[in-house]
Amino acid sequence: MEPFRGLDLLGLEDLLSEEERLVRDSVRTFVDREVIPIIDEYYREARYPLHLASRLADLGLFGSTLHGYGCAGINSVAYGLAMQELERGDSALRSFASVQGGLVMSTLYMFGSEAQKERWLPALAKGEAIGCFGLTEPDFGSNPAGMRTRALEAGDSYILDGTKMWITNGHIADVAVVWARAKEGIQGFLVERGTPGFSSREIKGKFSLRASCTSELCFEECRIPKENRLPHAEGIKSPLMCLNHARYSIAWGSLGAAMACYQTALDYARQRVQFDRPIAGFQLVQEKLVWMATEITKGQLLAYHVGRRRDQGKARHVEISMAKMNNVAIALETARSAREILGASGICDDYPVIRHMCNLESVKTYEGTHQIHTLIIGQHITGLSAF
Ligand SMILES: Cc1cc2nc3c(=O)[nH]c(=O)nc-3n(C[C@H](O)[C@H](O)[C@H](O)COP(=O)(O)OP(=O)(O)OC[C@H]3O[C@@H](n4cnc5c(N)ncnc54)[C@H](O)[C@@H]3O)c2cc1C
Repeated sequence: MEPFRGLDLLGLEDLLSEEERLVRDSVRTFVDREVIPIIDEYYREARYPLHLASRLADLGLFGSTLHGYGCAGINSVAYGLAMQELERGDSALRSFASVQGGLVMSTLYMFGSEAQKERWLPALAKGEAIGCFGLTEPDFGSNPAGMRTRALEAGDSYILDGTKMWITNGHIADVAVVWARAKEGIQGFLVERGTPGFSSREIKGKFSLRASCTSELCFEECRIPKENRLPHAEGIKSPLMCLNHARYSIAWGSLGAAMACYQTALDYARQRVQFDRPIAGFQLVQEKLVWMATEITKGQLLAYHVGRRRDQGKARHVEISMAKMNNVAIALETARSAREILGASGICDDYPVIRHMCNLESVKTYEGTHQIHTLIIGQHITGLSAF
């Protein structure tokens, strides 16, 4: 296959600063050299390429938009472009960066004490420590406010009991941000690996995000010191605020997966001959390619615009919901159309399309399902909550 050319039908490149292009191009080169050659093997074997964590850290991809504590402090568009390139490699890498930076580090940054920040943020930024974010439970996914995990105050400790499900990086994490119901309402806690009463297990049998670690976390009379509570987190709105960071990275990342599928389909259609001519010359194939290119371009504009508004402090959660919802949906549709253009070849991992397609099924579900984001936007425009 040809090297990645990017897709820019509207001259969006001109809107980017030199620093933004530099960040994107360095992640692009990293993905081409160090991810694409190995990712199929890890996907087949359902293993996460953990050795890449330190490389992601070297590139400043953990907590990239945060300032201080060893974080890169880049702007939201540069960060988004980096996430786009990572997910062009595989959604597992972008998920890793989104959880480590967008969920764990942003949570600590917003709600942690100074001591908690000093202890964890530099190590997480360097990839020396891995974090996970435990919100979802077996019986509470789209409705996390119903969570059953409890934190009982006992002298100078809290005692946690409950189960968290579908937690990215759960069984390899050094520290888990865990949301639990305490006397004052929903609160956030830091639980370190090895704490008695805390166990985790890998969820096996996934057909999606196979190169990502997904886990169940169990807390049975798990005693943690009181200073492990996040002092500035308060109620369900706190974890939802953290989700905004990760959702924003998905809005860009999903475009990376879509672009990989689009370019694969375009290259294939140009060289695959049926009825004595390249299939790219058939109107029905062109219609698919044009749909993909148009939707990716619209998605780029959406992500770019929300990114600029984030840097101006103007982006509302409804805008981020729209960008996540739309861009993942068009990415999944792009992957499915690309798979069709590749015919039978599309079902094999000789091409990245089927892997991206399977990954995007998870991406459509996590960080708020497509339906929940629809309802968030619906509530915003009608003033009526449908959930
Ligand atoms: C690979 C992967 C990694 C993940 N990583 C994490 C993580 O790191 N941390 C974490 O906390 N969670 C994580 N999750 C969990 C994810 O956020 C949840 O799966 C998601 O919130 C949906 O919850 P659910 O799967 O329980 O589905 P449900 O909430 O049971 O929903 C099932 C279906 O019903 C629909 N539905 C539900 N309510 C409504 C409604 N009111 N109106 C219309 N439709 C509705 C949903 O849209 C969905 O289609 C991960 C999930 C996956 C697959």
